Amino acid sequence: MSQQQQRPRILSGMRPTGKLHLGNYMGALRNWVRLQNEPHGAEAKYDGYFFIADYHALTTDYADPSQLAQNTLDVALDWIAAGLDPVKSTLFVQSHVAQHAELHLLFSMMTPLGWLERVPSYKEQQENLTGKDLNTYGFLGYPLLQAADILLYRPHFVPVGADQVAHVELTREVARRFNHLYGEVFPEPEVLLTPSPKLPGTDGRKMSKSYGNTILLSEPEAELRAKLKTMVTDPARIRRSDPGNPEVCPVGDLHKVFSSQDTIFKVWEGCTTAAIGCIECKGWLADAVNAEIAPIRERRAELAAQPPQLVREILDAGAVHANRLASHTLATAQRACGLLPRADDTDLEASAEALRSEKTS
Ligand code: SF4
Repeated sequence: MSQQQQRPRILSGMRPTGKLHLGNYMGALRNWVRLQNEPHGAEAKYDGYFFIADYHALTTDYADPSQLAQNTLDVALDWIAAGLDPVKSTLFVQSHVAQHAELHLLFSMMTPLGWLERVPSYKEQQENLTGKDLNTYGFLGYPLLQAADILLYRPHFVPVGADQVAHVELTREVARRFNHLYGEVFPEPEVLLTPSPKLPGTDGRKMSKSYGNTILLSEPEAELRAKLKTMVTDPARIRRSDPGNPEVCPVGDLHKVFSSQDTIFKVWEGCTTAAIGCIECKGWLADAVNAEIAPIRERRAELAAQPPQLVREILDAGAVHANRLASHTLATAQRACGLLPRADDTDLEASAEALRSEKTS
């Protein structure tokens, strides 16, 4: 067995919400890039699979899919600009690998309804997204689609933030139930907990596209500075001469994430003694955020200047690669469930062997 074969596989996905913002970057993408580049001897430590979850976007935005294709391309551009490397990792679009939908269907046969109704985000989102009718079969089933997304690639680890742990736990339950009914097909993936720092948007609430308070990963510098200038601050600091408290100020939260220790020290000292004004403090923050995103913005502009086919071809190649593993898993699961294999698709071992030899060549 080669070293490459033994590398633990990791898998994670992201909804195509359009151009990514700092919250998406710090909460997920930056961790994925770090994991992708983590060495293990001369090799990369992990074999990474990352997908753009376009079917998931339809579970909540089915009534207006007009931006879906462009949003998918925008996410791919941001991923590559931020350092996900299609040579090192498999980057693909969920709907380009049909087995996601097929395994979801298979799982839907054996998953009790109560498991899905109990998922906390089901009720929460139905109440919060009031402008949308989420009383649909697809929306109830989205955690099961997530289970299929994950188990299709039989990953060892799923890198997620703390808020996603419950979804991976449901995935593990689905795997256990399937294995109990039909035999050991799906190993249970482990959570790889990744840091997701508190990241407020310009209005002080959690940074989110739906609140309109985001700073994009590709934000031009002038806009970045203008947005930060209007960011809300410690409400108790009304006059320049009032001391403030960075611990209750959203600008302080962002300093903790982006600024150097020296700058953080200057902010804490200057704010609490009213030695600095908020405009100056926000200027330092803009310097720090800009230093983080400037190389990404530059790479994105270079990529966007290439023929539009380039990114689509990268995604196509990723889907072809993902499909090999996905089709093997699906065929194994179908066989375990007692479905009659196609006459030209009976030799699963041969296809598994072909996959193995390709990975080692
Ligand atoms: S000085 Fe900075 S940390 Fe203090 S209240 Fe103003 S913006 Fe917030």
